[in-house]
Amino acid sequence: MKKFLTGLTAAIVLLPLPAFAQAKLNVITATEDLAAIAREVAGDRASIESLARGYQDPHYVEPKPSFILKLQKADVLVVVGRELEIGWLPPLIQQSRNARIQPGADGYLDASLNAEILEMPQGQITRAMGDVHPLGNPHYWLDPENGKRIAKEVADKFSQLRPNDRAFFEQRLADFNARIDAAEKRWLAAMAPYKGMKVVTYHRSFPNFAKRFSLDIMGYVEPRPGIPPTPQHTLDLINEMKRQGVKLILVEPYFDLKTPKKIAADVGGEVLVMPPSVGGVKEVTDFFKLFDYDINLLIEAIKRVGASK
Ligand SMILES: [Zn+2]
Repeated sequence: MKKFLTGLTAAIVLLPLPAFAQAKLNVITATEDLAAIAREVAGDRASIESLARGYQDPHYVEPKPSFILKLQKADVLVVVGRELEIGWLPPLIQQSRNARIQPGADGYLDASLNAEILEMPQGQITRAMGDVHPLGNPHYWLDPENGKRIAKEVADKFSQLRPNDRAFFEQRLADFNARIDAAEKRWLAAMAPYKGMKVVTYHRSFPNFAKRFSLDIMGYVEPRPGIPPTPQHTLDLINEMKRQGVKLILVEPYFDLKTPKKIAADVGGEVLVMPPSVGGVKEVTDFFKLFDYDINLLIEAIKRVGASK
């Protein structure tokens, strides 16, 4: 009897876990854009949750104790990178004491690795004068082509951690890419009549969007990324907008509208609150709807103010 029991115990211990017993990947992302893309890749094989909400400034997210609890349980943490989250995320990762998601560990994924990054700093890399974009522009997800690059990183990471599901993730990635290609054709066609349209934006959130859809960003309400408007900069901007006939000011949902409204009144233009992220407004629930929403919003506004090229 004793021999039988010992044998049984050994059998239980050595029995390999059947595939269906493998738990879902627990994925935490820094932003809702990354969560939206990760969901496209993961299907039902992962639970995915974002720390930041899409209506928050991703540079300055208020850390909550619940974030640490979520990070403690995560198998994977996906970050935007390029120091976008440096003001709030690194201490939370550290405090989670979760070895799987520390920078450099297998469960830590920097989604910017193969993305096209614009505004790379020339010469010495510095955060001098408060510039919050010292490693190039971190708002790179606002280009559907970068969406595909992010999705590839995510699919590779999930496949590395769940090799049995590699074919599933690759199929989901191929399907996402095909749907992006089809949607991108539609978006480009919608924007084609407004090629070279000049706009001003509050923060430098839209350079990738502008490059993809041929907008010309003439200036910014902020004198430098992360620095609030100053009277002199605002005056210079108004003069330049008048000179060039620029009438549209795109503002991310989390900025004060006082200065943009003053500028719009002075130039006879319009302030357009345009979400740079999934979740920025409640209708924008996935990566496709982000472009659908923003492009529609932009075209309607251009029709109201008239194109300035
Ligand atoms: Zn920024």
